[in-house]
Amino acid sequence: MEMDGHAAARVRGFGTSVFTEMSRLAVAHGAVNLGQGFPDFAGPDFVKEAAKQAIDADLNQYAPSHGTPRLRRAIAETWARDYGHEVDPDREITVTSGGTETIFDAIQAFLGPGDEVVAFEPFYDSYLPSAVLAGGALRPVTLRPPDWSFDPDELAAAFGPRTRALLLNTPHNPTGKVFTRSELDQIARLCRAHDVVAISDEVYERITFDGAEHIPLATLPGMWERTLTIGSTGKTFSMTGWKVGYAVGAAGLNVALRAVHQFVTFATSTPFQEAMATGMELAPRLGYYDRLRAEYTARRDRLRDALAAGGLRTLPVHGSYFLLADIAELGFPDDVSFCRFLTTEIGVAAIPPSAFYVDPARAPLLARFCFAKRDDTLQQAAARLAHLPERLASRGAGAAAP
Ligand code: PMP
Repeated sequence: MEMDGHAAARVRGFGTSVFTEMSRLAVAHGAVNLGQGFPDFAGPDFVKEAAKQAIDADLNQYAPSHGTPRLRRAIAETWARDYGHEVDPDREITVTSGGTETIFDAIQAFLGPGDEVVAFEPFYDSYLPSAVLAGGALRPVTLRPPDWSFDPDELAAAFGPRTRALLLNTPHNPTGKVFTRSELDQIARLCRAHDVVAISDEVYERITFDGAEHIPLATLPGMWERTLTIGSTGKTFSMTGWKVGYAVGAAGLNVALRAVHQFVTFATSTPFQEAMATGMELAPRLGYYDRLRAEYTARRDRLRDALAAGGLRTLPVHGSYFLLADIAELGFPDDVSFCRFLTTEIGVAAIPPSAFYVDPARAPLLARFCFAKRDDTLQQAAARLAHLPERLASRGAGAAAP
């Protein structure tokens, strides 16, 4: 559908995202959807039960704008226990309607017209529009495969007089990179030297593999006072549709964030906040986080094997719930055409990572697959991917014909 001609100039460029296009194609062709990044399995019963109880208790009205006291307390306890940092639940935590809202609020709070935010590319697709809606610009620093490292000089050169913020994502979507302490040190040094606020998107903090250690940027020396960390219970408890996210950081940063949040959503769903408070209170006692990690490791391995059986080599993944497959040798001009082919001809939907670049031409030829899926979904995908080599061979033969 066409955008109405009255739309503001800054919105007109947004268009329909490739995520929407791929999901539409997946539905139209009955494809197994490994494109969109959300779990298709049930969330934990102890969280579901808590939500039912909260609804039965008639917790139906607005929560305090910055979040229910119980959820903020549970987040503070989690930070003290797992990251060794005492957080004041009243002044240093703000609950939002998901990580995406937190990112938007934080960027509006710290970026003005003409200002710049430095972000590693590829990046989650809301970063760029959030900067544009603030009247600012996103300055990309490109991560390079296979290990998705960055050039320290390129990062240093991205900081200038207009830089107001740095946007980090670790564990990283779509590459699966978990930033190391030495990389975080370099980033922190630049933030301090340029007196820049860090917005650290750590929504996949609980999904790490093979001993990779997630280190919150805020825990590095001198970073607490300038870092807002973004969390998402949607990722942690596999309930992305409940839209409960939060920010953790120094009081002054929260004052700025709350100034925006109050006029975006004002407050987040009360019963779901209460349910997530229960979730965070019970999770460590129930061994939930360890189980989540073990289950995701098995899902990752299952999808990796299915892709390998289809002739697709995957890059190493240390965190998040995405795998990147190398499609460079398959004869497609770009990742979008490969993903269209895979969805319509093979019946498995994937996402082209070029959507995560300011300039799509900079994207290496890869396809992103989400493994936050039930066993039967992954099995179905595996059965279809098994036909990929023969389909590619007949396609190649067809292309070579006069
Ligand atoms: N950041 C990243 C890197 C993500 O991948 C996502 C979800 N796909 C979000 C933020 C958004 O989180 P939420 O669902 O809590 O809005």
